[in-house]
Amino acid sequence: MEYGLKKTRKSLPISGTFMPYQHLEILNLNRTTKKVKERKPTLSPTRINTYLTCRVKYRHVYIDKIGRFYLKSRPYFSFGTTLHSVLQTFHTEGGVAAPESMVAKLDEAWVSAGYESAEQEKEHREAGEKIVQAYAVAHQARLEEAVETIALEKTINFDMGRFKLSGRVDRIDRYPDGRLEIIDYKSGKNEITPEAVASDLAMNVYQLILKRNYPDTPVFSTIQSLRTGSKASAELGETELTAFEAEITQLGNEILDCDYTAISPQKIDACECCDFLPRCARFWDNQELAELLDAPFDDSD
Ligand code: SF4
Repeated sequence: MEYGLKKTRKSLPISGTFMPYQHLEILNLNRTTKKVKERKPTLSPTRINTYLTCRVKYRHVYIDKIGRFYLKSRPYFSFGTTLHSVLQTFHTEGGVAAPESMVAKLDEAWVSAGYESAEQEKEHREAGEKIVQAYAVAHQARLEEAVETIALEKTINFDMGRFKLSGRVDRIDRYPDGRLEIIDYKSGKNEITPEAVASDLAMNVYQLILKRNYPDTPVFSTIQSLRTGSKASAELGETELTAFEAEITQLGNEILDCDYTAISPQKIDACECCDFLPRCARFWDNQELAELLDAPFDDSD
């Protein structure tokens, strides 16, 4: 099983990296943080995905910290941030708000940055109104099932030895039988399959953290498309979880031990939509020039 690791090594859609989520805790889950007392490097799914996509980008963002000079706002980041904020408010207020009141929450939370035109922003706003209203309607069924939301935008972590494995989950629900459901919202995807959830690195990381902190509690993951309401779930068995933990440990050590100063930018598929492309393109131009200058002079013409 790939657990999202091999897939992301080949081509990685990085999402949610720079969303400025607000932190809110509505149930004390501090057991997850008490275990990690000393200051250790932290690895999150976003960091790991960035490393798997491009180690040069990892260096720029997490070691040299020059992202603020290059990273741009994007419509999908702004749209996702807005929707997450609305849903957070909705759940904080008890998850009982009338669908029609959701539009006002959307207006309050709206993030305008990154849209390329007023028309594009209008299209997103109209889509957002439908999404948040449909969400409020669908949530009534959850209330009837007595499913309880116990955490929102919650940072969870687990000590992996040399590093702390950490992640921020959109929502954690608890069923009457005690099962915990980790829920991740996707604002850009339409259809979700169990296979997609099972191979999603972030969902597996969240499961690993919660299952290691709460070994007696059944935990499963769900990805929910906000656009369509489509959702699917997956759960790692103990054998898979152990194998995934070993892979993450090995990968984490590789990330910590990597000599980033020895790595040069290489042209890969991800360059096309990478904000660091101008910087790397300058490197390639200089490299070409240096090769020309180093080439033996040919005067055969
Ligand atoms: S442009 Fe390409 S090589 Fe450069 S940081 Fe981005 S993905 Fe990596």
